[in-house]
Amino acid sequence: MVINEREAQSFHWLANMMESVEVGLVVLDLEFRVQAWNGFMENHSGITASKIRNRVLFELFPDIPEAWLTRKVDAVALLNTRAFTSWEQRPYLFRFRNTRPITGTENYMFQNLTISPLSGSTGQVEKVCLMVYDVTDVATGKRALERANQQLAKLSMTDQLTGLLNRGTWENLVDAEFERYRRYNQTTSLVMFDIDFFKKVNDNYGHLAGDEVIKHTATTAKSILRQSDSIGRYGGEEFGVVLPETDAEGARVICERIRESIEHSVVPTSVAPIRYTVSLGIAQLSDTGKSYMEWMQQADEALYAAKKGGRNRVIIFEQP
Ligand code: GH3
Ligand code: MG
Ligand code: MG
Repeated sequence: MVINEREAQSFHWLANMMESVEVGLVVLDLEFRVQAWNGFMENHSGITASKIRNRVLFELFPDIPEAWLTRKVDAVALLNTRAFTSWEQRPYLFRFRNTRPITGTENYMFQNLTISPLSGSTGQVEKVCLMVYDVTDVATGKRALERANQQLAKLSMTDQLTGLLNRGTWENLVDAEFERYRRYNQTTSLVMFDIDFFKKVNDNYGHLAGDEVIKHTATTAKSILRQSDSIGRYGGEEFGVVLPETDAEGARVICERIRESIEHSVVPTSVAPIRYTVSLGIAQLSDTGKSYMEWMQQADEALYAAKKGGRNRVIIFEQP
């Protein structure tokens, strides 16, 4: 092969461009021996082109998923077409440190990867070129957005003060449990409970102290309930709990625990230590219920009876 002066010049330019472009360029033969390794790759890997030349890629980068890349490269060579993978499928091929100060939240460089076939003079694919694009900025932005969205979704489901499910979410859950019970005939109980004389707490100690008491109620109940129980903040100082696989007597045991724990605790607010009590109403799901609203109404009636009966107590709804 004879190269004239002009060709040599343009080859020189091309080589310069390849060296300085902000994309990783790697040429591999079909045995994965490195044939070219540009400046981008040298800078980020710390391995010089002369050192890596003719070495098998996987020997120097044991982290690279060999089976996966082999499959990709084989397809590229066989079909003589390009292949592309984005950071969303695989965050990176080469584990390079993220060197950007602004996007410092991510440890490694996110990469998009294109694999191109390189044909020899016979038209046969003899080598492939990997193009490694640094997409850390895009990925970081997208990840942050996803995190924010997740947080937002969670926020719109939960109550800000207590972190419990908010009324809407919790009611949907009661509705779902009601339907499930109807279908599978499972024993389930519903509890509604409310802080006693809460107006007085607000009047005597102020709204902020009142908020502390509401939070304390939520924390106490949550610590007593099981993971599978669903508690929500139904109203200002009113809460609801769905207890799956629990009959009314079982619910009474749990409710008594909550009632006693609250009766015996003191909320250390900045204004004063506050003692308070709660009243609880229980309704076990029955066959006669027509809707979840009827079920909630029954628990509410029991709660009302607990209030009327002197507060600081647990009452089970009885079918008339
Ligand atoms: P009862 O024993 O019959 O339940 O008497 P109560 O004083 O607790 O009466 P009720 O349940 O009707 O009182 C609700 C009060 O709770 C009225 C309202 O001002 C207060 N409240 C509602 N939401 C909040 C809140 O988020 N923070 C505070 N601090 N107070 C609230
Ligand atoms: Mg109350
Ligand atoms: Mg109330």
